[in-house]
Amino acid sequence: MEYVASTRIEKLETIEPREIRHVQLILPDHIEIEGKPYPLHDEMRPGTAFLAKPWGQRTEKFRRRMYTRSNSSCNAPGVLETFINDTHRPQADTSVWWQSDVPDQWQTTGELIDVRVTVDDIRGVATVYENTAVCKQANLRLEPDGEWEDRQFVCVAFGTGVTPFLSYIHYMAHQEWEKDREKQRGHLTLIASVRHEQQLMWHDELVKLAQRFPESFRYVPVLTRSWSTDWASPKGRIIRATVMPSGEEQIDVAPLLEIVPDFSKADLRLCGSVAACRQLQKGLGDRDISPASVRAESW
Ligand SMILES: Cc1cc2nc3c(=O)[nH]c(=O)nc-3n(C[C@H](O)[C@H](O)[C@H](O)COP(=O)(O)OP(=O)(O)OC[C@H]3O[C@@H](n4cnc5c(N)ncnc54)[C@H](O)[C@@H]3O)c2cc1C
Repeated sequence: MEYVASTRIEKLETIEPREIRHVQLILPDHIEIEGKPYPLHDEMRPGTAFLAKPWGQRTEKFRRRMYTRSNSSCNAPGVLETFINDTHRPQADTSVWWQSDVPDQWQTTGELIDVRVTVDDIRGVATVYENTAVCKQANLRLEPDGEWEDRQFVCVAFGTGVTPFLSYIHYMAHQEWEKDREKQRGHLTLIASVRHEQQLMWHDELVKLAQRFPESFRYVPVLTRSWSTDWASPKGRIIRATVMPSGEEQIDVAPLLEIVPDFSKADLRLCGSVAACRQLQKGLGDRDISPASVRAESW
């Protein structure tokens, strides 16, 4: 039996028209099953995704889709935030609906969006369903507390692949970085690659966080297609793929190595398209560069 909580659309911010939206869903404080109320506890771990049932513009029915949460349950319980992009694939269904005016109408009329929950009968509570309960190489669930704090994370995000890392940053800042300077633990470098400045997500806040916690957080936004004359961060692709006449793919990771010269102690985390994540790993492998650990998630 699949249980759901009906969420209210609180915020719909357009990052780039028809391309990327910032979505905020508010969970109810409890759900009712056969007349029995179950308090809804938000215990989502950073780096995991929730399952919502938005409308499919192409198929004209509700669809089940996963969205990685971009904020954290530690300081925003009950508020599920994510960034959703139009995939522009021929079969694009819900991703294109999110970019349309219809979700705005739903927000105005109070139409609700179902989010899957798990019912724990022993505790008598419901929790938000997460895509994974364990840390694996192919997901980005943050390591348990006590395991992540001594790591040097290098997180490379392509487009909306920044969402899991935004959740890490919210969590790490709340749990560690906001403590006394001497007690701060965990370091994260975020390399966020997008086409142009308008597509940068949570950019101003990230700039401020990097200024506030320079010992713990480094922010490197990268623009690949266009930039203003005063753009001071890296420009162009951080990995460059060329297909040789033999058909072999050659990957140049030199621009990435200019940003992070030494990966030997880095816990590399990747999120973005299958091709980008694969190419980056191949490019490092071709140079015999072995990070301390690698985990990647693609949608
Ligand atoms: C763990 C995880 C986290 C994600 N996080 C985000 C996020 O933060 N932001 C974001 O924008 N996207 C995220 N996605 C991708 C998101 O879930 C959607 O796949 C994406 O938005 C495209 O949706 P779509 O309906 O337009 O197209 P698709 O999901 O590509 O679906 C188009 C069509 O393909 C078919 N189809 C798709 N999936 C299946 C399936 N499993 N079985 C059978 N048929 C299928 C259906 O016919 C469907 O109508 C995530 C996906 C996963 C798995």
